[in-house]
Amino acid sequence: MRVRFWGTRGSIATPGEDTVRYGGNTSCIEVQSASGTLLLIDCGTGIRALGDHLMASGRRPVSGHLLISHTHWDHIQGLPFFTPLFVPGNEWDIYAPQGFEQSLQETLAGQMQYTYFPITLDELGATIRYHEIVEGTFRVGDIRVQAQYLNHPALTLGYRLEADGAAVVYACDHEPHSRSLAGGSGSIDGHDRRHAEFLASADLVIHDAQYTAAEYDGKKGWGHSTAEYAAEIARSAGVHRLALTHHDPRRVDAAVDRIVAAVRQRVAASGSAMEVFGAAEGLVIELHAGTDRHLPLLTGEVTQAAPLPSAFFERTVLLGAADPVLAASLLEAIAADGIHATVETDGDRTLAMALSARPSLVILEQHLPGMDGPAVCRAIRSQGGEADKDVPIIMVADRERNAADLGDAGDAGFSDWLVRPFSSAYMRTRVRSWLLRTACRWQKAPLPPDEEQRLAALHKLGVLDTAPEERFDRLTRLAAAIFDVPTVLVSLVDRDRQWFKSGYGDQPRETPREMSFCAHAVANRVPLVVADAVQDERFAENPMVIGDPRVRFYAGQPLILPDGSCVGTVCLVDTRPRELDETQKGLLADIGELVRRELLFTGAPGAPGA
Ligand SMILES: [Zn+2]
Ligand SMILES: [Zn+2]
Repeated sequence: MRVRFWGTRGSIATPGEDTVRYGGNTSCIEVQSASGTLLLIDCGTGIRALGDHLMASGRRPVSGHLLISHTHWDHIQGLPFFTPLFVPGNEWDIYAPQGFEQSLQETLAGQMQYTYFPITLDELGATIRYHEIVEGTFRVGDIRVQAQYLNHPALTLGYRLEADGAAVVYACDHEPHSRSLAGGSGSIDGHDRRHAEFLASADLVIHDAQYTAAEYDGKKGWGHSTAEYAAEIARSAGVHRLALTHHDPRRVDAAVDRIVAAVRQRVAASGSAMEVFGAAEGLVIELHAGTDRHLPLLTGEVTQAAPLPSAFFERTVLLGAADPVLAASLLEAIAADGIHATVETDGDRTLAMALSARPSLVILEQHLPGMDGPAVCRAIRSQGGEADKDVPIIMVADRERNAADLGDAGDAGFSDWLVRPFSSAYMRTRVRSWLLRTACRWQKAPLPPDEEQRLAALHKLGVLDTAPEERFDRLTRLAAAIFDVPTVLVSLVDRDRQWFKSGYGDQPRETPREMSFCAHAVANRVPLVVADAVQDERFAENPMVIGDPRVRFYAGQPLILPDGSCVGTVCLVDTRPRELDETQKGLLADIGELVRRELLFTGAPGAPGA
């Protein structure tokens, strides 16, 4: 991959003789993979010269992909001056965080309204496709892109790009989650740890470093990093090269030099070999596959970020807040996004409400009358059902010191914390990102009421983890022919997995229970037909739907033993949406009965069943 900096300035363009070396244009990065995939990050004023450069390069068409971190002006203001967008035949895919009030297209069109600019977004000649994305991983040409929320007053995504065996991360604009880390020391926990994992072992990290630790006191909550934090988080993540960027508009070249020198000294003193430099307009960096090390490239399936389900806007928030000023400001911020919230003013009532009303997000003040916040949090986790173990809980601490007292989030089980004071915009962003995360989940099947008895009956069958047998395989083969589907499974739902006694089609032997369709059929004990998974709120974002094996159609016939235990299904799976008519449903029930008989047959393995 080749990376070139076209804009490195934060907040506002700052041309002039004192900013010549690092540059005065706002954020814009060009990335090209060895095979020619063109991917730009952010379209601050730097993108104007980049557009001219691309047009002059002779490349035709000038098509590519543009990732926008967020829509603050310094990250989008160059867009109307990006010449390739004006040329018919060019095609551009634009990606940005999914917002709330308006679509990405509306947001970008806003700065091109007639009052501000002579040409509207609709009049641009190129074909433009807009993609509103949430946290996740997707593919752009031969580049794998991982998007992760940053900590900024606007909903902001950082991007990790991997191609050609190398990784580059763009993390701008971002403030330390724990403000005590702004000085460049302290233990990296919780969301800062998650941020470090996002940067892990990258060949190049381009990181927000707008402020210095000495300046930070007056800048808390503005959503930017200190150079010291950037260096420490990158060093701890094993990053190879760190580019400090989003230079403050007041920072002249000599001042950037001093910051870079100071950071280099710190890094060297820590014994790290990480290279540090100031991002400068025109700088080109070639990244090659590391030969001396193993880069932990993204594992798992590449998933396409999908649009939000409409259910997102039905999310609810529960506030446990005794301080009326805090409660009012939280309520206002949440209501501004059209999300419903309820308030309880003491710990016991908050707990009762959390367990009965099943909110999508819980925000707890640390000090509540009765049970305090951490105790409520622990109780939700221990007394609630399966769903309550997953609900995100944000703790509001009074001061950084109190946040430290709270200790590891893992102890009390909360997911995140907010330290007072914080702005309403900051609060809104945090609530949004948590709700977006939860809205992206799929529904996991509830546990059947007879779960333990059911598991005992399943284990007693003695079928789990046995070798494939023809008496089952012939049934799945027949079913595949009868229904003309590529995959038929005899699926047994164990405590944490579904294990396949027989699988027609190219199948693993087992998959996690949490993403199992069959677990839903087992919980409901009736046949389950999903005609098109992407249209079904329960399955639309299931990893098996948005990733391989890309399930679209599912029909499962429950397998119920004589004692009433439902142990699994025989199921049909297809990558195309389809329906089952009544006759076919009857045939599937017949096959289910034959499989059930084989499960109950206690003769010698391999012998024909009764
Ligand atoms: Zn910015
Ligand atoms: Zn910003």
